[in-house]
Formats: sequence, C-alpha cells, structure tokens
Amino acid sequence: MTNIVVLIKQVPDTWSERKLTDGDYTLDREAADAVLDEINERAVEEALLIKERDGGEVTVLTAGPDRATDAIRKALSMGADKAIHLNDPALHGSDSIQTAYALAAALGQIEGVELVIAGNEATDGRVGAVPAIIAEYLGLPHLTHLRKLTLADGKATGERETDEGVFGLEAPLPAIVSVTEKINEPRFPSFKGIMAAKKKEVQTLTLADIGLDPEIFGVANAASTVTGVTPKPARTAGERVTDEGDGGDKVAQYLVSHKII
Ligand SMILES: Cc1cc2nc3c(=O)[nH]c(=O)nc-3n(C[C@H](O)[C@H](O)[C@H](O)COP(=O)(O)OP(=O)(O)OC[C@H]3O[C@@H](n4cnc5c(N)ncnc54)[C@H](O)[C@@H]3O)c2cc1C
Repeated sequence: MTNIVVLIKQVPDTWSERKLTDGDYTLDREAADAVLDEINERAVEEALLIKERDGGEVTVLTAGPDRATDAIRKALSMGADKAIHLNDPALHGSDSIQTAYALAAALGQIEGVELVIAGNEATDGRVGAVPAIIAEYLGLPHLTHLRKLTLADGKATGERETDEGVFGLEAPLPAIVSVTEKINEPRFPSFKGIMAAKKKEVQTLTLADIGLDPEIFGVANAASTVTGVTPKPARTAGERVTDEGDGGDKVAQYLVSHKII
C-alpha cells in the first residue's frame, strides 16, 4: 500500500500561442488554451501503475487559478483518487521558491505521504527546480530525472539516463522523485473514468487554510523577477547549396562568411 501524491500543473497548450502579460511578464493564462502538462500526465500514470501493483491511494496536488480544476479533472479521470487544489489569488506571479514553499506546506497537511512524484520540468516556466526546493523544505531525499522507478522494501529505486550513460539511484521512503518523458506512456481517460471523476473529492485550500501568510507570495515578493522576453525570430527557409562539383567550396565559403569557421 503506497500513499502517493502527484504534483500536477496546468500549463498553456504548446499548440496555442503563449503570451506573457505586459509589465510584469507573468504568464497570460487567459491568452492560451490550458492543459494538464504532459510530463504530469506521465507522473500520474506512474503513480497509477504503482497503485495497481501495490495498492494504496493517489492524490493529486496543484497550485493554480480557478481553471486549474480542468487539469485536476483530467488527472482524476485517468484514475487518481482525490485532489487538493491550492487556489489563492496571492499566488499569482510567485517564483519557484514561493511556489515550492506553498506546495511543501500543502504536502505537510496530507497524512502518511510515502512518495511524491513530480515532472522534471514544467513546459511553461521551465525552471526545473520546484521538486528539489520542496525536498529541501521537507527534508526529504529527491531522485531527479528518472526514466524508471521501482518501489520495494521501503525504498525508491530509479534510473537516470544522461548522455554519458545510465545511473542507478536509490533513496529511502518517504521521498520525492521527478520523472522525464521516458518514464511511461500515459493512458487516455476512459469514459467510465471521466464519469467517475465528476464524483471524486477535490479539496480547495487557500494559503491561510494551510497556515501561510499571503503577504509573502506574489510577484511583488518574489526573490527572482523576469525582466524581459525576446521571442526567437521565425525560422527562415535557409540557403540551398547546389553541388555542381564545387559544393564543398560553397559550403566552406558560406561558413566563413558567417564567421562559423
Ligand atoms: C517566462 C517565465 C520565466 C520564469 N523564470 C523563473 C525563474 O528564473 N526563476 C523562478 O524562480 N521562477 C521563474 N518563473 C516563475 C515560475 O514559472 C513559477 O514559479 C512556477 O510556479 C514554478 O516554475 P516551473 O513551473 O517552471 O516549475 P518546474 O520546477 O519546472 O516544475 C517541475 C514540476 O514541479 C511541479 N510543479 C511546478 N509548479 C507546480 C504547481 N503550481 N502546482 C503543482 N505542481 C507544480 C510539477 O510536477 C512540475 O512538473 C518564471 C515564469 C515565467 C512565465
């Protein structure tokens, strides 16, 4: 029996245009369709696989605005048992430290958590630090960038793949793990799952409900600030070199003219 919490985040759909709000460069959430981050679908899938094997309960936890309920429903329709939605306007524009602080406090309210599963990096902020900061706040071990996860004998065992090779990792439970897109293929919610999700428990909490002062959150109190954003120029068609026996020379000339060689 494993009591698992999955950290899920709603993000702008990668297929719709993402915009940052003028002035404070926070994400303009209304400007894009919002979805459950795909890496978090995989995190939920991993929790469900563990539950199907060993029993237990899967809770999803998110910090986000009202419409993050859609992401919660998706996770519940995949098969998660219940959800906690930390929803407080004071969180808007919080940086990764503030977000992690709030999530750590919310996790502290859930009894008997043995494993926390997160994505390695959210597709909007791309900070890639929230799970590690939570681990620090809660004093828990953190296994990062896992492509494989096994639980046995009170331990989490995992594999991390890098360009150099594959690392074997281990930590005693309770622990936090963050997973990569190689961990699994997430299931699609079934019709039965979608119907069942409507009846599952979603607990909504404010910062005050978990004993936190809203005054220390938000863009005005963040330790880090986004100071500018420059979109990448659109890709051009490029330059085609036709080889008429002098292709090598032409390529070399092109590279010299662009100071590449
Ligand atoms: C353009 C831009 C740049 C930014 N740059 C910075 C920066 O340099 N430094 C900084 O501190 N903040 C930055 N922020 C703010 C940052 O996006 C937020 O603090 C965000 O809440 C955490 O960062 P992340 O989503 O990138 O987290 P990551 O650490 O990339 O997320 C990893 C995993 O943590 C979990 N997780 C993350 N957020 C939540 C959540 N709200 N609820 C539940 N689980 C969650 C998920 O499992 C996720 O897969 C930036 C925001 C924007 C829009």
